[in-house]
Amino acid sequence: MTGAPEPPAAALTVAQALAWAQAQSLDRLDAQLLLGHLLQQGRGWLIAHDDQPLPAAMALAFAEGCQRRVAGEPLAYVLGEREFHGLTLQVSPAVLVPRPDTETLVDWALELLPTLATARPRVIDLGTGSGAIALAVAHRHPTASVIATDLSPDALAVARTNAQRLGLPVAFAEGAWWAAVPADARYHLVLSNPPYIAGDDAHLPALRHEPLLALTPGGDGLGALRVIVAGAPPHLAPGGWLLLEHGWDQADAVATLLRDAGFEQINTRRDIAQRPRCTGGRWPGA
Ligand code: GLN
Repeated sequence: MTGAPEPPAAALTVAQALAWAQAQSLDRLDAQLLLGHLLQQGRGWLIAHDDQPLPAAMALAFAEGCQRRVAGEPLAYVLGEREFHGLTLQVSPAVLVPRPDTETLVDWALELLPTLATARPRVIDLGTGSGAIALAVAHRHPTASVIATDLSPDALAVARTNAQRLGLPVAFAEGAWWAAVPADARYHLVLSNPPYIAGDDAHLPALRHEPLLALTPGGDGLGALRVIVAGAPPHLAPGGWLLLEHGWDQADAVATLLRDAGFEQINTRRDIAQRPRCTGGRWPGA
């Protein structure tokens, strides 16, 4: 892309606006999702009403959104929202865009929750970002008592807004990993999708619109995972679980961290692309 695309002429129809977007090299599906979002209509409606003229303000808003997307901004930021585990979450550049990969972690948590020896399990999501993991768990397991932490006040504001809009009772605490909660607080289930991309990873430039703090701890990418595992034992109820999302090539390293810290029943789960994506273990006892 060199320079901004020419805005479309006024009085475009739906079909003309979509054709214009494609001429700006915008992906067809992205263009449909963006226009559908602005019109509050689904893709089916766009196809059935493609001769409908767009109000000038709408055409302009569409052109602006296309321009941001063509410049590489994630569609979720342009739309201001993203679906995660059946919930519509507001997102902003203060938070990582929730990934479908992370639904693997939530699904594992939802399987474990009914097996825990308590009717009101205490769950913590460390580094919650948009609140995705904590909110999905609170939504699907209403008897859980869920707390979500983040180092970033801006991220916590996004997560809080999501909890309010969805009417989900999640508590929030600001701070770095375990420093966000009292030293004697214990949980039955600890969940985290921490930054895990290595500092020199070739993919980082492509993710430049997302907060670096949420993507990489620098170094070999394992720094945050190490801190979370090392600090977990005094915060786990006997028989409680720690489940961690990690990079596709970090499963062995995370399993070793868990084993060395004294965890049992260590397992790895694959994401929708069949890559090893989450590793967890059970704290002994009960
Ligand atoms: N899954 C994200 C990516 O590879 C990274 C998320 C993270 O570091 N926690 O794009």
